[in-house]
Amino acid sequence: MKRRETALFRRVAIIGLGLIGSSLALSMRRGNLAGHIAGVSRGKATRDKAAALALADSLHERAEEAVRDADLVVLCVPVGAMGSVFAPIASFVKEGAIVSDVGSVKGSVVEALLPLVPSGVFFVPAHPVAGTERSGPEAGFAELFDGRWCILTPLAGVPRGVVDRVRVFWELCGSRVAEMDVARHDRVLALTSHLPHLVAYAMTDMAASLEGGDRRDLVSYSAGGFRDFTRLAASDPVMWRDIFLGNREESLAMLDRFLSHLALLRDEVAGGDGESLRGRFVRARRVREKIVLEGQETGAVDFGRRSRSR
Ligand code: NAP
Repeated sequence: MKRRETALFRRVAIIGLGLIGSSLALSMRRGNLAGHIAGVSRGKATRDKAAALALADSLHERAEEAVRDADLVVLCVPVGAMGSVFAPIASFVKEGAIVSDVGSVKGSVVEALLPLVPSGVFFVPAHPVAGTERSGPEAGFAELFDGRWCILTPLAGVPRGVVDRVRVFWELCGSRVAEMDVARHDRVLALTSHLPHLVAYAMTDMAASLEGGDRRDLVSYSAGGFRDFTRLAASDPVMWRDIFLGNREESLAMLDRFLSHLALLRDEVAGGDGESLRGRFVRARRVREKIVLEGQETGAVDFGRRSRSR
């Protein structure tokens, strides 16, 4: 990734230094995207870890100190906390600054933030479609966004030039950038991200309710497929609770379609319809092949995931 000679933004405030906030800070450092990174975390333990990792040029407990004079403010907290975190600091954001976020849901975040954005400040919602099942500042790494999509959902009235600055920012963080409207974002992500997590939570939670020997066997012989569900189910519980509540309608619509499909498969297994089952599995395998072809995953046996120690 090319390093800029001069910083893209003079001062950037990152509110929330978990997996995404810390990865953003490291990615910005790598590309020299900010003259000064002001990091904010409510918890002392998180600020101490962020200091040890040199994530930011200044660390703050109080977000108003960090956003004062910032050209870009990025909210990296759970989607359910966006409104309550931004409300007390909105009036400290300077005129002409850009406010953005990284929330996995866009409709509920826009609903919470838009009324709070002062006039003369521009709000450009964003969602980097990149992550791991890990949380906290130590989980972050500079390459997280490399080659991954970042979806911008530009709002009416925000000048093209402002949206383009955010686009360039994410491109310099390594992302491929797409733009779509808020409703489409939430519909697409309900299928590609939210439903798979719900299914993984259901599968893992069901298994956790088993008793005695069945439960022990499940852990010992998990490599049969169960283990891959547990990776998704290891994600942050607060983040995912907020995502399902924030994208409730689209998640339910996708879940209903999934349940009908599962019932179809059930009937075919019960009826011994091997031809139909095989046809479905062949079609399903092609989806995986397309994802590998698009470079969003590798065909390696570890599913392309490098294990990370920090
Ligand atoms: P994370 O690792 O759990 O970090 C969350 C951060 O938010 C922590 O710094 C935490 O501060 C802070 N925070 C939590 N609740 C707060 C509250 N009520 N008030 C103030 N600060 C609060 O989470 P993450 O994975 O970075 O996710 C952050 C955002 O990125 C979410 O909106 C999520 O939807 C989005 N996102 C996540 C992924 C993913 O795969 N993880 C991918 C794309 C987008 P303390 O540590 O001080 O408590």
